[in-house]
Amino acid sequence: MVHFVGAGPGAPDLITLRGAALLADADVVVYAGSLVNPALLERCKPDCVLHNSAEMTLPEVIAVLESAEAAGLESVRLHTGDPSLYGAIREQMDALAARGIAYDVTPGVSSLFGAAAALGAEFTLPGVSQSLIVTRMAGRTDVPERETLRSFARHGASMALFLSAGMLERVRDELLAGGFALQTPAAIVYKATWPDETVLRCTVGSLAETGALAGIRKTALVLVGDFLDAPYEKSKLYDPAFTTEFRQGSGEIPPEPAENTSECAKDGIAYLSFTERGRMLAERLCNALGGEVACTRDGVGLRDWTARQFPRARALVYVGAAGIAVRAIAPHLIGKASDPAVVAVDERGQYAIPLASGHLGGANELARRIAHVIGASAAITTATDVNDVFAVDEWARVQNCAVAGIPHIRTASAKLLDGSEISVRSSCAIDGNPPQGVCLTQTGEKPDVWVDFHPHAGLVVVPRMLVLGIGCRRGVTSATLEARFAEFCRSADVLPEAICSAATIDLKKNENGLLEFCAAHGWRLITGSAEELSAVAGTFTASDFVAKTTGVDNVCERAALYAAGENAVLLHGKFAGEGITFALAKRPVLLDWKWKNG
Ligand code: SAH
Repeated sequence: MVHFVGAGPGAPDLITLRGAALLADADVVVYAGSLVNPALLERCKPDCVLHNSAEMTLPEVIAVLESAEAAGLESVRLHTGDPSLYGAIREQMDALAARGIAYDVTPGVSSLFGAAAALGAEFTLPGVSQSLIVTRMAGRTDVPERETLRSFARHGASMALFLSAGMLERVRDELLAGGFALQTPAAIVYKATWPDETVLRCTVGSLAETGALAGIRKTALVLVGDFLDAPYEKSKLYDPAFTTEFRQGSGEIPPEPAENTSECAKDGIAYLSFTERGRMLAERLCNALGGEVACTRDGVGLRDWTARQFPRARALVYVGAAGIAVRAIAPHLIGKASDPAVVAVDERGQYAIPLASGHLGGANELARRIAHVIGASAAITTATDVNDVFAVDEWARVQNCAVAGIPHIRTASAKLLDGSEISVRSSCAIDGNPPQGVCLTQTGEKPDVWVDFHPHAGLVVVPRMLVLGIGCRRGVTSATLEARFAEFCRSADVLPEAICSAATIDLKKNENGLLEFCAAHGWRLITGSAEELSAVAGTFTASDFVAKTTGVDNVCERAALYAAGENAVLLHGKFAGEGITFALAKRPVLLDWKWKNG
């Protein structure tokens, strides 16, 4: 008999008991040598005949199995992971059946699960995604038209991509075209469960660079989706209030969390069209880039729509005359630090014109993407772009940094446009060589650009590398939090722009003032239970009172480190007053010199 056996993802003790027993019994083993760990073959009998299928064709594999069968021997066909995923077993099973040879299949632990284990991830987080899409990028093997990566990406579900690590640029472009955001969390897991397992967490936008930097092109899975890093709802199954088949619950099922009623356009892009032709074009763009389409033909007013979307959307796209868009946005424009990207596209789709926030807001890049999708020209007018000169604010945006001292951008750009050099002094590592016109200095005079989370007079590119831990008493107002926060930033000598998210204990997750405060800064509030915060290793400012009321001896410091993740350090310990405590954790960041997407 022929036994198809899943070898597991790599670690030799991740084969099933049944698979191990079959291996130990086999007279002949045909193993997929490119991925199966040779250590597994040590389970075989000394006289077992081994064949590496990496060097064989299908007829050769079948011939080996057929002659073993004719000699009355037991054979194992050993596949990596689970054989039902990209294992090419069906063709072997059919060939055996055609020859009247019996076979069975023993499942294995797919690398898919090895990778999830390495990440400590759950693919199916309540409130985030309840589905996992397992697929691959089309390569030498075609993928059916209806199964393109971009069409799957539109679901926004958790995704696992096999056989795609050698095509990360295309993977990124397809995911973006399907509507994932540049900042959607992603991970590359190389050789999950092997001794040289490597886990690289990144974002959809940085997938290609992350893979290239680590030199990973194969034996890796690409995982994408908010399951990698998003707030979620606790499961119903283990909820004390929830009755299951096996357990009587203690009470009512808690109400479902309120629907997200904010009218923010999905994926952050809001399109407004004025004609049927315009609507069709907007819908085409929406399919490719994500977002939400409105049309004045449906009774939506230009002014109302603009007033509603301007403060909320990441980008506004007017499919119509640029002049109409300019007049509509004029009363709302504040400055490049906070304005959304605004792009006008003519209804025939010939030109995509960034009107505001070309660099920091990403309007230039959006115009280029729009142009790419519909075959238009992007009418880019910013001087640095037309002269192909390094733009500090574009660089900051591509590197996920904020900018402080925005008026100084002009001075730096003017120098570069004049052909002079600008100096950059950075407190974090920047990979690679600076582009033309930029020199990196560590000493000497005041640089043209600082890269730092501390304030400086002048232009500062601010990596979003800090997590703000917060403890507060019940009923605290956002105004008090705001005032204390300003004091904290002054005393800690940090720029508020450097903060990427906030963290606290889960007891506080519905504290209104706190939620308002976080929303006003655009921070996600990450919460951990008393147990989770207690498990954070380190030395903290302990308080008996806090321990008694919350179950953990310190909230702000522990929460900051908890949310900041691996390799983070405590930058600033507890800062207390008016019933509020703050602390800061610092996450490692690695910047590079890439300053243009796409
Ligand atoms: N049947 C296998 C997949 C075989 S296809 C399974 O269930 O895992 C080969 C692809 O699987 C590789 O290109 C890579 O994407 C993935 N893969 C296999 N082993 C892996 C591992 N240990 N870590 C990460 N990816 C792996």
